[in-house]
Formats: sequence, structure tokens, C-alpha cells
Amino acid sequence: MAITKDQILQNAKDLDVEFIHLQFTDLNGVMKNLSISYEQLEKALDGEIMFDGSSIDGFVRIEESDMYLKPDLNTFVVFPWKPQVGREARLICDIYNPDGTPFSGCPRNILKKKVKEAEDMGYTMYVGPECEFFLFEVDENNYPTLKTHDNAGYFDLAPVDLGESARRDMVVTLKEMGFEIEASHHEVAPGQHEIDFKYADALEAADDIMTFKMVVRVIAQRHGLHATFMPKPIFGINGSGMHLNQSLFKDGKNAFYDPDGPYELSDTAYKYIAGLIKHARGMAALTNPTVNSYKRLVPGYEAPVYIAWSPKNRSPLIRIPAKRGPSTRVEMRNPDPSANPYLALAASLAAGLDGVKNDLEAPPPVFSNVYEMGLKEKEEQGIDSLPGTLKEAIQELQADELLMETLGPHAQVKYIENKMQEWDSYRTKVSQWELDMYLTTI
Ligand code: GLU
Ligand code: MG
Ligand code: MG
Repeated sequence: MAITKDQILQNAKDLDVEFIHLQFTDLNGVMKNLSISYEQLEKALDGEIMFDGSSIDGFVRIEESDMYLKPDLNTFVVFPWKPQVGREARLICDIYNPDGTPFSGCPRNILKKKVKEAEDMGYTMYVGPECEFFLFEVDENNYPTLKTHDNAGYFDLAPVDLGESARRDMVVTLKEMGFEIEASHHEVAPGQHEIDFKYADALEAADDIMTFKMVVRVIAQRHGLHATFMPKPIFGINGSGMHLNQSLFKDGKNAFYDPDGPYELSDTAYKYIAGLIKHARGMAALTNPTVNSYKRLVPGYEAPVYIAWSPKNRSPLIRIPAKRGPSTRVEMRNPDPSANPYLALAASLAAGLDGVKNDLEAPPPVFSNVYEMGLKEKEEQGIDSLPGTLKEAIQELQADELLMETLGPHAQVKYIENKMQEWDSYRTKVSQWELDMYLTTI
């Protein structure tokens, strides 16, 4: 049941909450905070707290800088960890213009718009994210290193080390904040972990991802570790993905499930897959938004490279996990945790709905290992690859009308501007690889 303004005020009072963080996410997927004291909570709940939008990356120009924070009451949570004095709580907010309309450059508003479109078609999108991350040691100045002292592998039961106990603490904290944790395990690479929480509707899942990342960082720090969601921190071992398990529900039933369909998948599921495949290249700029994202999307490390789907195989972009019935879902495997979850989900939903609305046809599933196919075989089967660089991904995004429209005029300009700057800053630097390659040979 939805919580009311009065209940929040009462809860905050009963629990001695002194500070409330009004949270929102910028276009780059970075969580921003405006902290207020308890005395201002009522004003905040009424959506009357203003902030300077021009100071936030990708938001507005100086001359139109007054923006309003409108909290989503359902997101009220008291932080379980105790600071020195008082308690802290948070509310996730939407950004509103001074004239009372939703600000179109706010990622949460962008996702809400798509969710509404799905609702108008009778669909609710559910998402189960699988977020991977590394825990690294810090040096004497508290600066993150690339050192881990664990040498456990996938699902290993290693003697409890620092990373394991940090992860346990993360799970406990997340549970205290209302998360339902489905699994938590060591991942393939040393120092790499995964914690999976229960699926939720798209908006809640995006909020959960943001909260999850914050909790993982805070708890890691309390254990003297640094948590990173960088997609590929170390060359030569697995990177970190954020697989997005997606399904559509209609009239309370999983619309991807059909006991009589091929692989027990419905027409809707096939069309949705077709939509994801059609827009995969343009979506990459949103699901894999950093220079480093593309160092993960290479053969050999369980991350996808090729745009194909399979009811079994793990190598393609889209896999269909074995569960059917209400749990029927498609697992998109390229997203990584550097993505802005609101934009990644808005794009996925837009792509999937495009498939459903326009009766797009999914290519046949792929059963063999795509990595072992020759170029010719891939060509014959029409298997394309994901973009190889951020630059290529940005160009694909620009060429994808549906995704540009999903972002809207404001966010598309700002997003592409930001990402091009990021690309330029990268491409103009001289790397160690170049020195090793050319310094003595040319
Ligand atoms: N870490 C792998 C990736 O980069 C995924 C491993 C898994 O299947 O969980 O996507
Ligand atoms: Mg995993
Ligand atoms: Mg997975």
C-alpha cells in the first residue's frame, strides 16, 4: 500500500531522522543528493524544494536554472547504518520545471514516459538485474588499488575473507532496506562478486539499481575496501556485467509465456526479442555508456559480442533462462553497471515495444557458439556485432530514431555531447599500449 505524507513525517519523527537525502540521477547515471534537515521534510514532501539545475551535469542552462525536486513517496527509506549523530533517510525524486511540468531531461521522467506508453498498451515491464562488481583493497591513503586478496572462484566456498564478509554485510543491509535478495555469490574473477535481488517493475528496478550501488559502495568502505562498477577494471579476466532480465505482463499474466509456443515462448516474446535485436547497436550507447564498456565486450570473458539470441547458449546477446510460467523472461547480457539504469531500461522497453507494436520478426535462435563461427557463417545467418567502441555506439544511437525520440530533444543533445567529450578525451591521450607498441619499433 502506498505510504502517505503524514506517515512519512511520523516515521521520520519516531525514528529520530535528522537528515533526509533528496536523491536523483543525472544523465551520466551518477546519483546526486540534496540534503535537508527534518524541519524541511514537509516542504520537501510537498515538492517545494528548489535546486540549481545548472550545476548538474547535463541538466539545464544558467538562465533556466530553477528546478524542483518532487519526491516519490514510495521510495522513503531510513538508512540502516548509523552516522555519528542523528539518523538519515532518503527519498528518490523526479525533477520538475518551475511551471509544474516534469523536466524532460530527467532520466527518471524519461523512463516513466515509456512505462506509461507500455501501460497504455496494457503491459507492465518487469526487470530483474544481475549486478556484478569488484572489491579492491585501498592503499594507506585510502586510494583504491587493483589488489584483491581473495583467490576464490565462481561459487567457491573459500575461507571467509574481507570481501566475503563485506558482501554478507551488504546483503544484510539491503534486506534491512526492503530488498529481497535472491542470490549472492563470488563471481568468476578474483575479487568479483554478484548480488541478485528480486525483480520489480521497471521504475522500481531502476531505483533499486541506484540504491544497490550506493549501499555496496558504503558497506565496502566500512570494510576498508573499494567497490567498483567499472565494466572492465583488469585486462585478461572477466569484466562486470549487469544482465537485465526482462518480461512483460498483461492482465496479471506473464505475456512471454505460451506453453504451446516454440520453446514455450509467446508471439509477444518473439516480437520483443526482435525489437531488442533491431535496436541493440543504438542501445549500446545507453547500456554500455563508457569508453571502458567496450573493453568488456570482447570474446572470451562471458560477455556478449554478437547480436543473436538463444534459448540455451550463454554466448549471444540475449539468452532465455530455463524457467517458464510466470518467470519466463529474456536476459539481455550486454548491459554493464556503468549504465544509467533509467535510460538503459527506457531504451530496452522502447525497443521491445517497437517489436510488439510493429510485429517484428525475431531471427532464428543460435545454438552453436557464435565465437567459433567463421565470418562467412555469421554473415549467412545475418549475425551482426555490437559496436566496438563508444564512438561507434554514439553514432548508432544518433542514427536510431526511436531511441533518440525516447531520450527526447533535451536529453539526446546533452547525452551525446557528454559522451562525445568523453570519447575525445580518451582518444587524444597517449596510452601505455601505444608506448609499448611504437616507442622502440618506429
Ligand atoms: N561477468 C560476465 C560479464 O561480463 C558475466 C558472467 C555471468 O554469466 O554471470 O557479462
Ligand atoms: Mg554473473
Ligand atoms: Mg545472468
